[in-house]
Amino acid sequence: MIELTVGTISFKETEVHVAYHIAGQLKEIESGTPIKATYSFPLKQDYTWASMVALGAFLPYLVSRDSQVRVTLPIEPTPWLQEYWQNYLTAMFAQKSFSVEWNFTAQYHTAETEVLFAAGSANRIGLFYGGGVESTFALSTFYHKNPLLISVNGKDWMNADKEKSPIKYNLISELMQKYQLSMQEVSMNVRSLLKDTNAVFNRFVTGNLFYFLSAPIADKFGIGTLYLSTELEYALSEEEHDQSIHPQFVNNIFVKNPSWPLFMSIYMGFPKVSMFAKLAQTDFIKYIYSCFNNSSKRWCGACSKCFRISEFCDRIHLDRSVIGMQEGITGRRENTPSTRYSWKYMDKIYGRKYVREWVLLGKHAIKKFKQKILHLEN
Ligand SMILES: [Zn+2]
Repeated sequence: MIELTVGTISFKETEVHVAYHIAGQLKEIESGTPIKATYSFPLKQDYTWASMVALGAFLPYLVSRDSQVRVTLPIEPTPWLQEYWQNYLTAMFAQKSFSVEWNFTAQYHTAETEVLFAAGSANRIGLFYGGGVESTFALSTFYHKNPLLISVNGKDWMNADKEKSPIKYNLISELMQKYQLSMQEVSMNVRSLLKDTNAVFNRFVTGNLFYFLSAPIADKFGIGTLYLSTELEYALSEEEHDQSIHPQFVNNIFVKNPSWPLFMSIYMGFPKVSMFAKLAQTDFIKYIYSCFNNSSKRWCGACSKCFRISEFCDRIHLDRSVIGMQEGITGRRENTPSTRYSWKYMDKIYGRKYVREWVLLGKHAIKKFKQKILHLEN
């Protein structure tokens, strides 16, 4: 049995702190540092919402580690909350039996625990935006509707660590100025509180953070639906791969209560290369940022995203300089759960070129060999 206790919740203007304690110490979860999330506007003091953020950060992960979890929350019992998590966990752990025991200490009273939301009847679009192919493609199709772009940032979190990737954020601000769009950012520290791999974090946490951390933004800016754009290859990947943001799972995340926003996965009928080809017919292509490494270069040339985007350029005959990519980055066939479909669809649409593939494979091998020699000499 693992126990999660959510303790003091404090609202400090634009910031919320949620203290928690895990009994049955898991070395992967930091103890002593509260969850922190920072917004650009003062927050309403909704303790139920803050409790949901903490549950989104840890509960699915804890159930993955132990089939019995006891949860203690500082609010009064809220029937929809228990029902929500029962449905969520049943969808996520279809093959596993588990039980969650709920306790409520009522440190905060209901009158002050559910004051937040009026997003249900709102109709503005919220779009999770990271500058990559999928979100930029989505934006290119409905920018005229004045969607609010939403960015969830955090230290060490994938390529959304603002300090590491100024190039990405500069491109985003250029794009926003040009199309007179606005963005709301949330900064949070959850990635450094749960010290497991990115794969584990995306499987159990990422989607929840997108949704729950965006809820106050939806309330403040009148957003009824939060859109997450994903490509066909992602939808085709095994469901447990990045499960919390998988198109087949996202609809388990939104709270089925009229005052909470919807969370929808969109455009997963488009192979990524087709999104890229359509973007290349628009001005939006110039703003693409899609590198894992967040180095001092816009394209590091050494990560799978750089390889794939370079290959897309070749397939659709796009001059790399349009996206600020240097010469010399070449594609390399990949075989991970979601990337292998990217190559399949490129072949399906543009034909497979075996000779070229072997030549590129040879080039990569020589490059690696040279790097090794250089490394030895140093
Ligand atoms: Zn890269």
